[in-house]
Amino acid sequence: MSNSDELSIPSTAFSRRGTQASLARRIRVIGVPLDMGASRRGVDMGPSAMRVAGLEARLEALGHEVTDGGNIPVEIAETQAAGKENARYLRQIAKTCTRTAEAVMKILEDGMIPLVLGGDHSLAAGSVSGVAAFYRRWGEKIGVLWIDAHSDINTPETSPSGNVHGMPLAALLGLGPDALGNIFGYAPKIAPENTVLIGVRDIDAAERENIRRAGVAEVFTMRDIDERGMRAVMEEALSVAGNGTAGYHVSLDMDSFEMVEVNPVIDEHNRTADLAVELACSAFGKKIL
Ligand code: MG
Ligand code: MG
Repeated sequence: MSNSDELSIPSTAFSRRGTQASLARRIRVIGVPLDMGASRRGVDMGPSAMRVAGLEARLEALGHEVTDGGNIPVEIAETQAAGKENARYLRQIAKTCTRTAEAVMKILEDGMIPLVLGGDHSLAAGSVSGVAAFYRRWGEKIGVLWIDAHSDINTPETSPSGNVHGMPLAALLGLGPDALGNIFGYAPKIAPENTVLIGVRDIDAAERENIRRAGVAEVFTMRDIDERGMRAVMEEALSVAGNGTAGYHVSLDMDSFEMVEVNPVIDEHNRTADLAVELACSAFGKKIL
């Protein structure tokens, strides 16, 4: 598992629409073994790595009921044409994101909480769309916590790399690319006033402009976290993401955690996956602080 795996936790875990009276949740895990959005290969193995690290058993140990819905089908990059250089494999990624969005929506319809394992971060255009579209039926909106060293708010026009994993937040906020932003036929999926970036280290000039243009509510850099502490940052982030929303979706890009995993051989003994599972348990109620 390389360092840009995404662990997507639509935290209807914390939704007021939750049907469970207790803190015990019915969680359904799905994997999205997608790596076409990243230039470096290998994140397609992320879902397996997190399963091997005992995700299901560890969530069940917290009292949750966990089922595994398997993986979303993903095209193999080697069999596909990459398409335009400024957004490679966009067509195939949009197809995977649409499947992911449909699966996430179905899980919510079944009264469960989706826990989506990536895969590269482009899949969040699908997972967040599924949650957003579900709540839209009741005229409700969702907040988003985007925990990532990068802001992922490039469009094909501004992307220096053409890697689609740098574009999902732009798509969800309605800046494009449309193939990702218009899943279920509408855009934007999320409101900028309920969108918070946390842990950002690298923002290029065009992304800074896109953050401003979209009107993203809050950006907490690594420096903010160092200066103010994680607890204070998270409290403010949650108040922004939760303001007037049905709940919030947590999208966690594991490369953010290079601050604690500085070992360049980051995958040794499955430690990144182990950390991801630990963080998922934390999000679902395990006290680690
Ligand atoms: Mg990142
Ligand atoms: Mg990312």
